[in-house]
Amino acid sequence: MVGLVIVSHSRKLAEALASLIRGTGNEAIPMVATGGVGEGAQELGTDAGDIVDAIGSVYSDEGVLVLTDLGSAVLSAELALEFLPDEQKPHIRISSAPLVEGAVSAAVQIGLGSSLQDVELEARGGLVPKQEHLDQPETSSSSADTASGTETPSAASGSFGPETGNRVERVMTITNVHGLHARPAAKLIRLIGSFDADVEVSNLSRKLGPVSGRSLNRLSSLNVLQNERVRFSVSGPEAASLLDAVEALVDDNFGESEEQLESLPQPESKNPEGLIGISDGIAIGKAFLLTSHGFEAEKAFAEDRDTEARLFTEAVERVEADLAAKKRMLVSRLSEQELEIFDAHAILLRDPELFDETLRLIADGGYKAAYAWGLRVKKVSQAYETLSDAYLRQRAKDVRDVGVQLHDALIGKDGSGELLTGISSPVILFADDLTPTQTASFDFSIVKGVVTRFGGPTSHTAILCRALGIPAVGGFADMESVADGTMVIIDGKVGAVSIDPQEGELAEAREAERQKREELERLRQKAEEAAISIDGSLVEVFANIASPRDAELAIRNGAEGSGLFRTEFLFLNRKTAPTEEEQFGAFVKVGEAFGEKPVIIRTFDIGGDKQIDYMRLPSEANPFLGVRGLRLYETHRELFTAHIRAILRAAFSFNFQIMVPMVVEVDECIRIRSAIEEIHNDLEREGVKHRWPLPIGAMIETPAAALLAEKLASSVDFFSIGSNDLTQYVMAAERGNPDLVHFSDPLHPAVLSAIKLAVEAAHRQGKRIGVCGEMGSDRDGIAALLALGVDEISMSPAKIPEAKERIRSLDRSKLLSLLPRLEQEGSAKAIRSLLKELEEGR
Ligand code: PEP
Ligand code: MG
Repeated sequence: MVGLVIVSHSRKLAEALASLIRGTGNEAIPMVATGGVGEGAQELGTDAGDIVDAIGSVYSDEGVLVLTDLGSAVLSAELALEFLPDEQKPHIRISSAPLVEGAVSAAVQIGLGSSLQDVELEARGGLVPKQEHLDQPETSSSSADTASGTETPSAASGSFGPETGNRVERVMTITNVHGLHARPAAKLIRLIGSFDADVEVSNLSRKLGPVSGRSLNRLSSLNVLQNERVRFSVSGPEAASLLDAVEALVDDNFGESEEQLESLPQPESKNPEGLIGISDGIAIGKAFLLTSHGFEAEKAFAEDRDTEARLFTEAVERVEADLAAKKRMLVSRLSEQELEIFDAHAILLRDPELFDETLRLIADGGYKAAYAWGLRVKKVSQAYETLSDAYLRQRAKDVRDVGVQLHDALIGKDGSGELLTGISSPVILFADDLTPTQTASFDFSIVKGVVTRFGGPTSHTAILCRALGIPAVGGFADMESVADGTMVIIDGKVGAVSIDPQEGELAEAREAERQKREELERLRQKAEEAAISIDGSLVEVFANIASPRDAELAIRNGAEGSGLFRTEFLFLNRKTAPTEEEQFGAFVKVGEAFGEKPVIIRTFDIGGDKQIDYMRLPSEANPFLGVRGLRLYETHRELFTAHIRAILRAAFSFNFQIMVPMVVEVDECIRIRSAIEEIHNDLEREGVKHRWPLPIGAMIETPAAALLAEKLASSVDFFSIGSNDLTQYVMAAERGNPDLVHFSDPLHPAVLSAIKLAVEAAHRQGKRIGVCGEMGSDRDGIAALLALGVDEISMSPAKIPEAKERIRSLDRSKLLSLLPRLEQEGSAKAIRSLLKELEEGR
């Protein structure tokens, strides 16, 4: 049961309230009264230490609601929260509910076994029965203030008292299905902003308002639903023309056609279509919505208020630019309506309730921007949560989302790993998208599965999930329908997400998970053994790694070497680039894990979807076609030099090879070799121990490289096919785009032809060729690669035991003879069914 803590300046009052509650049939709930200070708590006052003890005495994972009387009691409760252990903090709520009515209402809910959220909502509605009985609903100004969380209207919000001066008014009926929700409200605000006029808006149907027409938050607090009547009261030089424009916008349904309205996200509905399994496996856990989580900014005071205000405004500008860039990037993927959410977020950033009030808190209270911003985000998002309309309540998520973005910009953070701090039970992470930086920073002993709206099977997020054996599903559009903490099952093989499953389904999923674990264990026992096909040909199985930690996992899973060390991951999640010494340390650790086995170290492949803030790379219209991989080395000479020095030095004791990403021409291979050789000469001059020469290879991941393989082969020592990029470039289909998944299949005949060209060219010139893209861990992919004759396959460490078993089950000679038939096929689908036929002996 949820616990209840009653805090009053008067211990007697708190205890009397507790006995009133017990006397009304709530004897069994965990409740404690505290307050008063001094000898025997006889004096009036509150003490944070007492509140900490009180919370501790009724604490459970179900949470604790703290109700206070006034003034410093609230501050003591907030201070108490800071003293509590981190893992308890998310389960404690300090409520703004009226003390007596709130406590009685909360107690009844607690007795019913309700969740903390429901108990809190009930407490906050504690005054409603009395107000209704006395026919005294909240006054218009206080309702606006309740939603905005301020006690007096802010200067920026204008005067919301009785009408004065030359105001003109018009009443209009809002016809949108969801009323004045975020997108139409954002349009309205943009329109109002283009006129020289002051606008106040009231919801006549609910007797709410007036509020400023320039604040998204205040407009939302009016809770305007379909067919409700709204009064626009306008003053100023352009008042009349503004009213006409508003009326035209309302008549036009805010530009939303009926068709579009139906496709708006429906909080209750789930649409399983379009889901993509991006990392195999079943996961069970509670939903954790990344975007809905806030941030903790410690209370701190600015050294200089003006500087703090400037830093805050600059951070807002950075987030605005970022939102605009995201919108540009997604123009081709999202509908006009979906894109408007970026505008709505940009408007939220400048909303007087957030922006102006944060500046006011900095100027008047002297707070640090992050803390002041945090206070406003909390107030405004909580205000949304109290609204009766489910759709408008969802806006709390937008406020928190914008809140996190700005907070991150303020503190210069990239990644949200620490958001999971304090969470200890397994979660399934829900997020619109995850950057590789974020994915890399999560604690995967807690994150059991990942569900994203964007991100296809060869996105780096998907690759990381596979590397870590974390099931993941992409293309999940209905984030709004998932409540935090709901039980979820995901199946990353077929791409299924089941929200709040029945007990039977849960039991089945647990059983499937258990069987899968057992099967993996069985294969792991055999993983040390070589992968020899039925007809006796040996295929080397290597691991793709991104850190020393992966290297250890790879060895445990039977890797015979590493075919790809994605070194750029050493550069992520940091504020500055790793030094030569740091990189050297990481390479040595990897070397120690692999011992004498070969390790192919790919020089850093930054760019594309792996952006690094501190490198300040210019934004590009098509990052995958931009300055990525080896194209960066000339302009980032120092970084490149430190990187190569670290590799050559570490290679002294290990069997390292160097591989270069994004090669498109012979000249690049010649230049890179001589650049590396120069670095070797420097080391030599300095008398630093290192290895030279060592094999230098090229990735075949661009169509240019595949077509030129014959020529490239003479200037490198080996090749490795990057099937992920090769597929995206051959198919002209961005690898992270879930709408293009059907084009992202490496078994497409065009991709297979490109691979064949490269394999034949390499072998003609006596060079080895491996594969390090995700194709190497796909069942059919392995069969096709055997048919094509590659020498080595490198894959996510978690996939090695299964892949070895797969190779053992195949007959390479049969596959080789199948090649001409594969080449006849016109689609990946046809090739996959031909391989299946072969497998079934048809
Ligand atoms: C590839 O493109 O297939 C590859 C292995 O490199 P990355 O996935 O890191 O781009
Ligand atoms: Mg690549």
